[in-house]
Amino acid sequence: MQFRRLKLSGFKSFVEPAELRIEPGLTGVVGPNGCGKSNLLEAIRWVMGESSPKSLRGGGMEDVIFAGTATRPARDFAEVVLSAQDANGEELEVVRRIERGAGSAYRINGRDARAKDVALTFADAATGAHSPALVSQGRIAAVIAARPAERRAMLEEAAGIAGLHVRRKDAEQRLRATEANLARLDDLMAGME
Ligand code: ATP
Repeated sequence: MQFRRLKLSGFKSFVEPAELRIEPGLTGVVGPNGCGKSNLLEAIRWVMGESSPKSLRGGGMEDVIFAGTATRPARDFAEVVLSAQDANGEELEVVRRIERGAGSAYRINGRDARAKDVALTFADAATGAHSPALVSQGRIAAVIAARPAERRAMLEEAAGIAGLHVRRKDAEQRLRATEANLARLDDLMAGME
């Protein structure tokens, strides 16, 4: 999947509608401290379904809405549009919008969608809000300082095998249930002999 365009309106410091074209190849974003470079990365994570305000450097989800400055009033909503092209060349447009007091809503190619649909759409393309391809500031230091178990979890996520643990747990539960059924069957058979 190739990201093509990011449009922001009312998202964090991007109070005015802003559009970032993402051309094939390397894209660099340069600017002075505090101009909003990290906010762009957070907008990409947010539109892909990020649900943790902490990982967006906020205390609550509505903190992504432009909070106002000395000269500009706060906004009532934030909206981010991510346009991409999937591996088959099909266009994909995902919109996330949050309004104060009303929560988030998503659209995929113009149709209302659930957060789960958005997460699956990106997971199928091996990306998403928690993709290890998105490296936030301070993350490198966190990897170095991480305990072995935490580092292992990061590597497993990068290798795309984190989901296997969930499936393994499911399989173990089913195995235990089957073993219990077999034991019960043995008892019944013994009783009939
Ligand atoms: P640095 O180079 O220092 O890491 P940066 O270019 O990555 O900076 P960001 O961290 O993306 O900058 O942007 C920080 C700016 O965004 C701050 O000025 C902060 O006040 C502003 N900001 C964050 N959230 C909001 C919000 N909800 N409303 C208005 N402004 C916000």
